[in-house]
Amino acid sequence: MNKKLKILYLAAEAEPLIKIGGLGDVAGSLPSALVGLGDVDIRLVIPFHGAIQRQAYPLQHVATYEVPHTNGPIVAEALRTDIDELPVYLISGAPIRPDAPVYSHNTEVDGLKFTFFSLAALELIPQLGWTPDILHANDWHTAPAIYALSLRDELPFQAIASLLGLHNLPYMGAGAEIALAEFGLPPATDSHLPYWAQGVPLPLGLLSADHIVTVSPTYAQEILTPEFGSGLDDFLQSRADDISGILNGINTRHWDPESDQMIASCYSWQTLDARAINKEALLDEFGLNPDPKIPLLAMVNRIDPQKGVDLIPAAMRSLNDIPWQMIILGTGIPTLEAEIRQLETDFPKHVRAALRFDSVLSHRIYAGADALLIPSRYEPCGLTQMIAMRYGCVPIARATGGLRDTIVDDGGSKASTGFLFDQATSQDLEAAIRKAGAFFASRESWSKLQRRGMQGDFSWERSAKQYMKLYNSLVNKKKVVIKT
Ligand code: ADP
Repeated sequence: MNKKLKILYLAAEAEPLIKIGGLGDVAGSLPSALVGLGDVDIRLVIPFHGAIQRQAYPLQHVATYEVPHTNGPIVAEALRTDIDELPVYLISGAPIRPDAPVYSHNTEVDGLKFTFFSLAALELIPQLGWTPDILHANDWHTAPAIYALSLRDELPFQAIASLLGLHNLPYMGAGAEIALAEFGLPPATDSHLPYWAQGVPLPLGLLSADHIVTVSPTYAQEILTPEFGSGLDDFLQSRADDISGILNGINTRHWDPESDQMIASCYSWQTLDARAINKEALLDEFGLNPDPKIPLLAMVNRIDPQKGVDLIPAAMRSLNDIPWQMIILGTGIPTLEAEIRQLETDFPKHVRAALRFDSVLSHRIYAGADALLIPSRYEPCGLTQMIAMRYGCVPIARATGGLRDTIVDDGGSKASTGFLFDQATSQDLEAAIRKAGAFFASRESWSKLQRRGMQGDFSWERSAKQYMKLYNSLVNKKKVVIKT
């Protein structure tokens, strides 16, 4: 019998226990999908945030132990619960304050919490008497665990390979330098990292991980360039052989137009005509003219420059010679929200904006809109385009990161599932909408695009298989050892 691969998976958040952003989706889905493959003993560790509903999960005490700190050791407690067949450890201790949000605006405070958590997760290994083959940490919050691992050359730590999952490079944890030092993690002064990054959690993880995996293959390449490298591109180039990308999946049970109870009419790629009822219902809900010949464009996103939301008003203002309608769902930066409101005021017959977070409405939009605009400046992976394609809502997106990897635009009608444009400018966005508009005029061409997108495989199972390959390639890989 094959020996099962052992993985300790660390994240700041994981569904269903706690979800704030995309990381919660990934950490909630990937470990379970790996369990589903059967060949791996994977265990998830997250902080016991105050917002986790304690009563919802049976909890079992695992260990109480100490994490070293310059002012004296801090006590950590590990509790275990199981989500289906996935063991989950919840770590508590004084720096993980029950009244604090998962992420605050203060990285110094968050730095203490997540450095403590990272080290407590590492110290959990000898407590469990279970040594993983691979420590898989994610983003800056748990990068200190990888750095700390690289400083330990005794058993059981010495035998563990490390993998850092990179979901969003610009969020590096700057401000957490003091926390790292307090927990005995010195800056990597004798390294290729730029001076400003030598004490910052994410760069230290990037320095010390045996391998780095981004959430799409294109993003793995993009971070090596000045445009996307956030000042670390030179350094990352020195690690290029150890960087690869694996696309995220989506929860295909939750996002399923065939069984979605939140939409007016269920449908599949074979019963696409039934989709029209959802468009009618959505237009009616928003008081827009129900004309099936007018393309209904939508956006479901954070209202943020990363998402290129600022490009939309100018593009739409230039499109006064062709018909279109638009529904925007999003929340974010107030000045950008005001620009969207202004667009709505200026185009009362065309535009509606719901400036809030509303998951149920997002289902109705994916099921009812004809196309989804995603003009992102950068997009490590992106979920909205995959959800949209699954619902037959054709993406019009900037060709960057995971958008480039998931949307096919061959310029014609052979394999296309959407429309991609090169530059993050309102002109390029406008041109792509025009191209889409021309396609939309032919019902047959459009439904081909929809059907192809709906048949794509965006499952976590597909991602999990690629992670298994990567894990297997990392076992016995030469370990990065940092000398400070
Ligand atoms: P991000 O960079 O924000 O993580 P993703 O595309 O990876 O972007 O994921 C965004 C997720 O959040 C999608 O599931 C999308 O449907 C959802 N979402 C974004 N904004 C809203 C909103 N205002 N209301 C409901 N869902 C939203």
